[in-house]
Amino acid sequence: MDYISTRGSAPTLDFRAATLAGLANDGGLYVPAHWPKMTADEIRALAGLDYVETAVRVMTPFVAGALNEDELRELCKAAYGRFGHDAVTPLVQLDHRHWLLELFHGPTLAFKDVALQLLGQLFEKFLSGGETDITIVGATSGDTGSAAIEAVAGREHIRIFMLHPEGRVSDVQRRQMTTVLAPNVYNIAIDGSFDDAQAMVKRLFGDAEARDQLTLSAVNSINWARLMAQVVYYFYAAVRLGGPDRKVAFSVPTGNFGDVFAGYVAAQMGLPIARLVVATNVNDILHRALTSGDYSAGTVTATATPSMDIQVSSNFERLLFDLAGRDGAAITSMMGEFDAKRAMTIPGDMLAGSRGLFSSASIDGDAMALALRWAQEHGGQIIDPHTAVGLAAARTLDIEADVPIVTLATAHPAKFREAVERATGVRPPLPARLGNLFEREERYERLPGDYDAVKAHILATVARG
Ligand SMILES: *Cc1c(COP(=O)(O)O)cnc(C)c1O
Repeated sequence: MDYISTRGSAPTLDFRAATLAGLANDGGLYVPAHWPKMTADEIRALAGLDYVETAVRVMTPFVAGALNEDELRELCKAAYGRFGHDAVTPLVQLDHRHWLLELFHGPTLAFKDVALQLLGQLFEKFLSGGETDITIVGATSGDTGSAAIEAVAGREHIRIFMLHPEGRVSDVQRRQMTTVLAPNVYNIAIDGSFDDAQAMVKRLFGDAEARDQLTLSAVNSINWARLMAQVVYYFYAAVRLGGPDRKVAFSVPTGNFGDVFAGYVAAQMGLPIARLVVATNVNDILHRALTSGDYSAGTVTATATPSMDIQVSSNFERLLFDLAGRDGAAITSMMGEFDAKRAMTIPGDMLAGSRGLFSSASIDGDAMALALRWAQEHGGQIIDPHTAVGLAAARTLDIEADVPIVTLATAHPAKFREAVERATGVRPPLPARLGNLFEREERYERLPGDYDAVKAHILATVARG
């Protein structure tokens, strides 16, 4: 499979190169040159397959030319063998039509493990035997950092520096990062906000001296391989609920538009999806964009769903690319305008193309808490606040009565236990495999919110070997 940039001028790459590159060098994002199709019979044949075999069937066309089916299977077995549930992403029924797809059985209790565990395997595979060592540098407001660290800890040819804003991630989230003592893992607490940390990472990627001394790589959700891994669970769930002979709707708690874009990909591949619900919290740029074309970034409001407190959703560009008829020049000028003004209007004819599949809703804190209690009282489930945003949206929107609605459960409730306890009175315990998190030794560096200090620290650490 060839990968092309949404801005039309970066070189076409194969799957291996697109995975290692992350971002395209024209500022765009890599997407497959075409959407591979699965026939209804091929989808029907997924019934009864386990998660790994489903993953192999769904992902093989995307990795063609870089990995064969057996290689892909080995990587999937290694990635998903670390999950705490045999089904990897089990479905749980809430009432006659609402279901949860539990995506949080990975090592760090959020859905990001589904993609990052595979990405870690892919990186190791693609770098093995080679001369290159890559340096992953990232900033996290919580979930991505621990999932990325767990994915690459102890791996050869990879080191990871993860910046988090000191005192602004939860104790569980911090400890999930800082208690990983593998020698290739470097945690840095920055005196500043998440945006400060993020800005430093961006600056480092554009810094000629740093790029000269390091082979930098990114693991945020602009990396195509992450989205590819997420396409799998849409098929896995839909087939269990009667697909492809029955349409299924999905409600997706959304921040960077990565997870819900994976659902769009599943639909392009031929999975009959009745509706994809883009569920945002009060940081609702996507809801405004999809309903009125108003794609303008405001200031971020902090909520009980921090992983969705985002104003600019990087992966939305991938949808716009398709809506614009895959015209890279058009996307270059649209995104150029957005970068300059932090706002743009999506033309009506482009938006029209999204209406058949996407709906959206913006859910405030009260509606989120209500959905948390509804799941507790009617479905007997304690869910996390992000999942509750998805469930609230699913229950608000008008979806045909015979369509089952699957809300993606993106985090384990124990990860956000203060908010869960406030809404339900129940304090969800950490799963046993994380039970001693609070006794483990922590290791991290504290640095001032100063770019030069952070850069000097990273370069010196790498130079020491
Ligand atoms: C990252 C995250 C999201 C948002 O996912 P996107 O792919 O960025 O849209 C939702 N819920 C949780 C718990 C997350 O960690």
